[in-house]
Amino acid sequence: MLIYDLDFSELVEIVVAWGQPVFRAQQIWDGLYKNFWQSPDEFTNLPKVLREKLAAEIRFDIITPTLKLDSTDRQTRKTLFRLQDGRQIEAVLMRYDRRKTLCISTQVGCAMGCTFCATGQMGFTRHLSSGEIVAQVMYYARLLHDQQDVVTNIVLMGMGEPFHNYDNTMKAIDRLNAQDGYNFGARRFTVSTSGLVPAIRKFAAEKRQVNLAVSLHATENELRGSMMPINRKYDVEELIKACHEYVLATGRRITFEWALINGVNDTPEQAKKLAKLLHGLLCHVNAIPLNPTTGYEGKATTRERADIFKQVLEQNGIPCTIRIRRGIDIQAGCGQLASHTA
Ligand code: SAH
Ligand code: SF4
Repeated sequence: MLIYDLDFSELVEIVVAWGQPVFRAQQIWDGLYKNFWQSPDEFTNLPKVLREKLAAEIRFDIITPTLKLDSTDRQTRKTLFRLQDGRQIEAVLMRYDRRKTLCISTQVGCAMGCTFCATGQMGFTRHLSSGEIVAQVMYYARLLHDQQDVVTNIVLMGMGEPFHNYDNTMKAIDRLNAQDGYNFGARRFTVSTSGLVPAIRKFAAEKRQVNLAVSLHATENELRGSMMPINRKYDVEELIKACHEYVLATGRRITFEWALINGVNDTPEQAKKLAKLLHGLLCHVNAIPLNPTTGYEGKATTRERADIFKQVLEQNGIPCTIRIRRGIDIQAGCGQLASHTA
């Protein structure tokens, strides 16, 4: 049993089954999510017998950092973690001005097989449990807490496809969002999907306040299908239709992710087609020059081409931000570190 896999009600049940009063569960919960304690020894407000019971019955060492890398500008910290079964995942903290954005993983590897993605190139190993997802956040929350700082945003854009591990991902978000716990605002999460249409519909129906990002990367089925196999199951038209339904159901703006690849999807014509495709949709495009990976030939676009791409989109009514690539020197791109050390 992993401590972060437990909801408060489950923790209460366990504590009561051990013959302890309910308020002990509240103390444990506060210790975990307000003080960021990570081992039973730290719960000095509990009776020794309860601390020992916790240590014996429940696992606290869910993820173990095995490698920590800081980018040369020290704004990006990447951590590689070992799970209980020896598998590896990674999570990255990016500091932009006052923002501290944490990028976390939802699976070991990924089944979607996007050709340009280091995680996709690894293949799929397994889903993470909700507690393994929560553990990544609590690790960094503790790290920042020790520096009198806090996580401000969480993006589920590390290894894996969150909508392929839907239930555990939502459980993790709900646990982190719990008001009497970590209380991390729903609007400060962003879930990113490669376009699993039924899951987008489900997500829309749940009307969560969590932000949605959709990885698009191409407007034409032939090109998108060659980059993202999922497109052969749910094509561009179906995907955009589901995005319209999402905006209609939630009133929330969608972010489209676009990795700019030199000569592949970064021409002004492609920007025009993209603007046309997204016309009338409450959205925003996040374009990021490709992070090159060993298993894919494509190269990053140039600054000039990226600027033109953005200009064309905006002239055609679609807001666009060009994201600077961060942490390239520490292989902070999706899945890159784990694949280099596997
Ligand atoms: N599986 C989800 C979330 C994880 S990937 C998804 O695909 O949306 C997070 C983002 O990184 C996605 O937009 C993905 O397309 C992008 N990405 C993957 N490999 C990349 C690379 N080599 N360079 C730039 N972006 C990449
Ligand atoms: Fe999976 Fe996202 Fe990578 Fe595609 S881009 S292989 S969906 S992690």
